[in-house]
Order: sequence, then structure tokens, then C-alpha cells
Amino acid sequence: MTRVLACLLLALYATLAQAAQLDLQVELDPAARRFKAVADVAPATKDFRFLLHEDLAVTSASAGGKALRPTAGASRGGAREWRIALPAGVERVRIDYAGALPALDRHLDHRGVLRALPPMASAEGSFLPAGGAWYPAPTALFSYRLDVTVPAGQRAVAPGTLTAESADAGGYRARFEFDQPADGIDLMAGPWVVREKMVPRASGEALRLRTYFTRELDAVPGLADGYLDDTQRYLERYAGQIGAYPFAGFSVVASPLPTGFGMPTLTYLGADVIRLPFIRATSLGHEVLHNWWGNGVYVDYAKGNWSEGLTTFMADYAYKEQASAEAAREMRLGWLRDFAAVSAGDHTPLAGFRSRTHGAAAAVGYGKSAMLFVMLRDMIGDEAFGKGIRSFWEKHRFTRAGWSELRAAFEEASGKRLGEFFDQWLNRAGGPSLAIAGARMGASGKRLQLTIEQSAPAYAMRVPVEIVYQDGSETRWIDVTRAREQVDVDLPATPAGVRLDPELRVWRMLDRDQLPPILRQWTIARSPRLAIAGDAQDVHEAAGALAQRLFETPPRTVPLDAVSGGTPLMLIGLHADVDTALARNGLPPRPPSLSGKGTAQVWTVPRNEGAPLAVVSAEHAGALRALLRPLPHYGAQSWIIFDGSRAIERGVWPAPGKLVKVAL
Ligand SMILES: [Zn+2]
Repeated sequence: MTRVLACLLLALYATLAQAAQLDLQVELDPAARRFKAVADVAPATKDFRFLLHEDLAVTSASAGGKALRPTAGASRGGAREWRIALPAGVERVRIDYAGALPALDRHLDHRGVLRALPPMASAEGSFLPAGGAWYPAPTALFSYRLDVTVPAGQRAVAPGTLTAESADAGGYRARFEFDQPADGIDLMAGPWVVREKMVPRASGEALRLRTYFTRELDAVPGLADGYLDDTQRYLERYAGQIGAYPFAGFSVVASPLPTGFGMPTLTYLGADVIRLPFIRATSLGHEVLHNWWGNGVYVDYAKGNWSEGLTTFMADYAYKEQASAEAAREMRLGWLRDFAAVSAGDHTPLAGFRSRTHGAAAAVGYGKSAMLFVMLRDMIGDEAFGKGIRSFWEKHRFTRAGWSELRAAFEEASGKRLGEFFDQWLNRAGGPSLAIAGARMGASGKRLQLTIEQSAPAYAMRVPVEIVYQDGSETRWIDVTRAREQVDVDLPATPAGVRLDPELRVWRMLDRDQLPPILRQWTIARSPRLAIAGDAQDVHEAAGALAQRLFETPPRTVPLDAVSGGTPLMLIGLHADVDTALARNGLPPRPPSLSGKGTAQVWTVPRNEGAPLAVVSAEHAGALRALLRPLPHYGAQSWIIFDGSRAIERGVWPAPGKLVKVAL
């Protein structure tokens, strides 16, 4: 599944003990992009240094009524360092600063990923990100109180508890207090309609759930109410599984930017995607859960990011498990398939994952990480797993924790030593290749001699093996620790065959016959190649633009006869030219199941040798251009038929698991 949400979790590098306080009063006029603020801050050091965006400047600074002289350095990377020397005996300093913020700009790279954002303002929406240098941070971690004023018609929101609010013809004012150590402040404003649902809590104060939607979104029947109800459902679900929700509310905030962020107490989602059903069904729960994992227990980034894997496992994957065993298997296949599409040179250990920066990192930081939790729960059982989760939360909420703290919690809960398990899945790159090398019935007819081989050095694993009889099957879990493991398995009858891990519950390199080619292999290829069929100028332009949208690395354009070997190749052209090119190079023709359908057809070519080949074939150049926006979203598919920009059919080529016959 393509996630449109990139979770940008906040980096925490300093010690929590240093948490200091920042009081901030902000006046923001989004239409004029005018920003004015007064900060009352208790810096951690007397030589107070802080960054401000280059469009903002300190107008005055004082302590105890006495004026101080701030100095500013040169602008570097869009921000400059300011210095204020605090006189002896002075703890707090007042800083007045102001400026005109940059206009809202989507700041997207060619793959639609947000780069580091400056503070931005516009009447349709303003976003002042935590990393945008729009306030003088007293230290790396601090608690804050933020008073914000925006003109009438606008609303503003920030992470924290809403403790005061008023609106009249003069404007909208709100106060947000964040008592826990935060590593920054995100401030958002927009012409929103606000809906609210108060949910009583046994512990006292009611939870304040809100939507901050655009007028159009708010007018969609049932949408805001649906989000409020679903938010409540997710909060209750995770409070039950983990521990009480640690904040006073949660808001779903519409953004003019096309992607999404998870922050403490809120999620800032592209207005374009809020209507999509899977956002409410999946991404909302994922972002809510980050209030426990990431914004509740902080990630110790120096030691690796466990929170995306655990959140994916307890949200996205858990919802699939709830839907059906098949849906859950499909998700596991997706993880293994995505990983198989990463070239061996790009394999990195999970312990090194920090954040999603490209497809290869996501395959490890989300997929492998979530699978680690699947394997862990298979090994220690549901009960110990749940106990480990709850004690990890209890012990580490609002402190930084790494994989070793997670391991300790699960060891305590299960009474098992898990050092080897975590070590091999975290610190080794890649994964084992596994196969059944032999299956033979002993003379008694009741004992199966099974040989399982894996690539060296061997992993220690429990591997499920399906024993297939004439009239059914059963699964046995086999402990494997060596590159060639021989085990005897007592069986009630002679089986017809055996299948290794058909449900894909073990992280490993899948065989080619379990791996139908999917488009993502081209998308994330390190040095992809592009061949264009035909000579028409408009086709060449459309093909070039499409390749630029689709590939993470710009492709090299090669002649058509390059299909024989090398790195992943994509052939793009009009139908007749494509058919000719395939025939001339002795390649499989257009699949009959696709032929004649839609205005464009995209397919991967399953073949055992030669360069991986994918084909994009269209009726005319306009039909190619229509794929620019939608095609990058279909990375998990082997084939897609488009009518204009709409996918009307799609699928993955079938990949039967191998049944190993039992020798008698
Ligand atoms: Zn996430």
C-alpha cells in the first residue's frame, strides 16, 4: 500500500533533564504574512544563542526592565544565529521579534516529499513547523505556553492543552500549554470550521476531540463526525492495549500541504486526502498511536527508530489482521516484496534506521521492523507480548528509549532471553534465504526427515512448515540454528508434500517464484534505464516526464536493444511501437488479458533472466501524460489498466509457493 503520509517524528538529542520553559505570545496575520511575537524565556545558559528564520529579526530584548543588546550572525541555510548575553543574576529574558513570513509554498521534491520547511503563511493556511526557527528555543527540550492571535475568520492550533479560547470581531485568541518536554513548537492556522466532541474520562477531565476542517470538508456529510468518532475509537483502543492516553485532547487539522504530519495531540493532514476512506481507516489510527510511540515514549534516535515499526504493527497491520488472515498475509508479502526490490548493496541494518527518506529505508524501517514484532509475538505469545508493551509504556513514557529498552520489557514479560533474536534482526543487514533441501519419510512411515537450508552465517529462527496431506494440512514450527538443519518430525500419516513458511511469517529473502515483479522494483531502482519506442516528439516528452515522476533516481535513456541484460528497464511508447519493439527483441508480447483495454496499459514482464522489464503503453501521448499523477501510487502492482488517469483494473501476477514432494 502506498502511504501518502510521511511521519516526520521529531528528533530528540538533548537530555530531558534540561527541560526549560518558554512563554510565547504570537500575533499572526496570515493574509499579510505579518508575524510579531514576544518571547519570555529562561535559557539554559547565560550566553543565550538561538536561531531565527532570516525573515524574522529581534526588535528588542530586555531582562528585569533593562535593555539588552542582541547580536546577529550571518544567515546560513535560511536562518541566522542570535546571541544575547544575560547579566549575572538574571534568569529570564524578554525578546520582541517580528517579520514578514515566506508565502506558503509546497516545497516538494519531484517525488512529492516535503523538504525541511520554513515558517510559511497564507490566508488559505499557515504552517510554522517546529524546525522552522520561528521562536527562540531555550534549549533542545522545553515546555511551553503559547498565546496566539489571528484575525477574525482564522483559527490557530498547536500541540498541547487548549486552556483558553475566545473569538470576536477583533480576532481569534487561543492558549496552548505543553507541560511535557517538547523538542519544538508547531503552529498552524487556517480559515477552518472547528467541530468538537468532549469525551468523558474516568480519570477526571474530559478529552477534547476536534476537527479543524476547511469549509468544503466540513460540508461533506458525516465527515467531521466520522473523524471525531474514529479518533475516539482509536484512543480507546490504544488506551486499553497500552495505557491511558497521556494528553488532554486530539485534533485532526486540515493542511493545504499535500502530505501529513503526526504531532503530539494532533495530526496535520492534507485537505486533499482527508476525504480518502483509507486515511480514516488506517492513517488516522497510525497517527493517533504515535502519541504513545514517538510522542509519548520518545525515540532515542542515536540508537535507532523503533517507533515506526511498532506503530505500523499495532496500527496498519493490526487492522489487516482484524479484517482477515488473507489481508494480513498480503501485507506481510508486501513488506517482503518491497524488501526484495531493494538491491543488496542498499541493504542496511534496522538498527540504523532513523526516518523514511527513500524507499529502501522504508522497506527496513517500516516493513522489516513491523515483521520483527510479528515474529516476536509468534515466539513469546500474545499475553507476554501485551504485557511487554504495557510495561515498556509504563516505564518509559516521556523519556527516550531505544531497542534495548524494548527488548528488556519483552524479556521481563516473557521470561525468555531475547538478545540473539533482537541482535540478528537489528544489527544484520538483509535476511536469510531459506529453502527445504530435502523431505523424506523414514522406514516407519510416521517420521519425516526434513532438511532446511539457509544462507550462511545462519540465523536462529522458528520456521513454520506446512505439512500437506491428501485431505488437509497442518503447520509445524521448526527451530533452525544452522545453515543446514536436519530434523525429524513425527507425523500421523505420510504427507504428500511440505511447504516452507507459506504464510510468510518469517523475515527472509523471497525466492523469485514467490516474487511477482511489481512496479516498485523500477521506482526504487538504483540505476534505472528508460527506452522509448517510436520517434514522435510529444511521446518522448511525455515519456521523459513520466519517468521523472516515477523513478527515485533519474533514469538513463538507452536504445531499445538494451533489454537483454543489466539494471531495471522501462519501455514507454504508443501501442504499435511497443508491440513492434517487443517482437523485434524477442520479448513476451503484450499480455492478452490487458490487450485492447483502457487508454494505457502498464505491466511488468515476469522472466527468469535478462534485465527486469516493465512496459508503459498508451493510445496516444495524452494518455501517457494522464499517468503522471496516478502511476507513482501503484508501486505494489504488477499490472494496471488506465482509462485516462483512472486505474480501472490492476493486479499482481500470481506466485504459487513451492510444494516440496516427500520422498518415500
Ligand atoms: Zn508513522
